[in-house]
Amino acid sequence: LVSRENHPERSTVHVGGVPIGPGTVTLIAGPCAVETHQQTLDAARMAQAAGARLLRGGAFKPRTSPYAFQGLGEAGLRILADVREETGLPIVTEVVDARDVELVAAYADMLQVGTRNMQNFALLQAVGAAGRPVMLKRGMSATIEEWLMAAEYVAQRGNLDIVLCERGIRTFEQATRNTLDIAAVPVAQRLSHLPVIVDPSHSGGRRDLVLPLTRAALAVGADGVIIDVHPHPEQALCDGPQALVEDDLGELAQVMTDLPPLL
Ligand code: PEP
Repeated sequence: LVSRENHPERSTVHVGGVPIGPGTVTLIAGPCAVETHQQTLDAARMAQAAGARLLRGGAFKPRTSPYAFQGLGEAGLRILADVREETGLPIVTEVVDARDVELVAAYADMLQVGTRNMQNFALLQAVGAAGRPVMLKRGMSATIEEWLMAAEYVAQRGNLDIVLCERGIRTFEQATRNTLDIAAVPVAQRLSHLPVIVDPSHSGGRRDLVLPLTRAALAVGADGVIIDVHPHPEQALCDGPQALVEDDLGELAQVMTDLPPLL
């Protein structure tokens, strides 16, 4: 269903009216985690200033440590919905448990399946049936073939509004949080008709790498990027070191408009 063999035209997925697909480069930005209403609104305004059309933000956070901030849950979803009302930005947010899909889908414009859940087949089937577009992140140890098969689980439930997101994979390299597999973008676009975006924030895990990795993503023809921004990253409850700050926004906006979209 997601293969390009039977569907040679590349697809566009619409999220709250915003297109992700060929002919456009979509910026999705926002806080890694929703912490407070003010923090989320400030981050959303930062995202908008840089040209973002969609707001990201996690209310359910899949953390490596059970002692780390796990997200605000439904209270976080309510904040996202309020901030959507205030800014007009549709929301992309993660769902980590099949039992929460209905709840998250009641608030979200797009459901995100994170790297740790790429092969959570019950979750994939549930989001496939939820009636919302899905962003499917690549598993940190998944091959491209496994990633596409995970997308197939979503598609099988009747939902072809899927955007693939390359977010870096595990390698021996320790200088970056993950290794951005930049070749995965054109490879996945050749194998599948689905749009492919890149997460330079979670790939590098470092603020200073976000803009260079964004340039790389756009140069290979990514259909968009998803970027963490935070008004006060030193106080962030999640992934502060990779969040862009106010001073970076001008350059981000410049990077997003420098390169013409590749078809
Ligand atoms: C995220 O985008 O908030 C996230 C947790 O990403 P990943 O699943 O790629 O680690």
